[in-house]
Amino acid sequence: MSRQQSEPEVVVVGSINVDLVLTVARHPAPGETLLGGGGHSTPGGKGANQAVAAALRGARTAMVGAVGDDAAAAVGLSLLDAAGVDLTRVARVPGPTGLAVVTLSETGENTIVVVPGANDAVDAALVESAADPVAAAAVLVLQGEVPLGASLAAARIADAAGRRIVLNAAPAAAVPEELLRLADPLVVNEHEAAIVLAGALGDDAVDPPATPEEATVLARRLRDAGARSVVVTLGGAGVVVAGPDGAWHLAARPVVAVDTVGAGDAFVGALAAGLARGAGMAEAAREAVAVAAYAVAHEGAQASYPGLDDQLP
Ligand code: ADP
Repeated sequence: MSRQQSEPEVVVVGSINVDLVLTVARHPAPGETLLGGGGHSTPGGKGANQAVAAALRGARTAMVGAVGDDAAAAVGLSLLDAAGVDLTRVARVPGPTGLAVVTLSETGENTIVVVPGANDAVDAALVESAADPVAAAAVLVLQGEVPLGASLAAARIADAAGRRIVLNAAPAAAVPEELLRLADPLVVNEHEAAIVLAGALGDDAVDPPATPEEATVLARRLRDAGARSVVVTLGGAGVVVAGPDGAWHLAARPVVAVDTVGAGDAFVGALAAGLARGAGMAEAAREAVAVAAYAVAHEGAQASYPGLDDQLP
């Protein structure tokens, strides 16, 4: 059987975008036209990034998502295809492929406009048409860039089949209790951790953690709020993991940071691949920290992700 036809080990239900990255000396004022320093289109979307990362780490991976009927669709799918991700459950719908316009200024202030486009067509019906691979895969990966109904439908199918759900609550938003209780782990950065906990507690006064110690407290509180396990990513300070056996801090691998875009997605994809392979949380998280460090040390998002032959830091 070809790789494409055999059952997936990881299924990602999520977004597929094209990132249009523009560099400018400064941001334009309303009504103003500026000449940019450069621009390029690159595949993106948290779902697609995570699927590429998982596939490159050796997991048979399938993507459930949607692209439009425009020329951008081919760009959005290009590195998924190159990584060997099964794209048979990616729908083509009328209208534009998801687009993120990123403006990078010399002062380091960035603006981002995201047009969901075809990602809005990822609904419960599309997920139910992909129920077989979702139920078959050891690990289901979800994020927040497609409609919530799709994530809930996928989580119910995976849970009924006894599968593991990795829930990356990004972009930051409250998570419904049903979904939070299935997360194993919930993966959040500092900012997302505070928003998810505030939502779960019905309290808007949760501050993002400033230290690994504070992140450990927050991770424990997120477990108490229902998540089966929790990972809080802390950028250059690594991650905190909280599971049934306690909580611990894992330092980042020291690298020269070249481009941190997509590092969180590299972490999530690699973590899912490790868990799907049968690794425990500690081993999978260690590997994912190394994969994320590699991504930080290389240019690009999906283009910066390491394969099994690449030397991890
Ligand atoms: P997000 O982009 O989702 O906010 P983070 O910035 O927390 O995610 O990064 C995710 C992971 O990538 C971190 O937990 C860490 O392991 C790794 N990472 C991020 N920045 C660095 C860095 N400067 N050096 C080494 N590893 C890094």
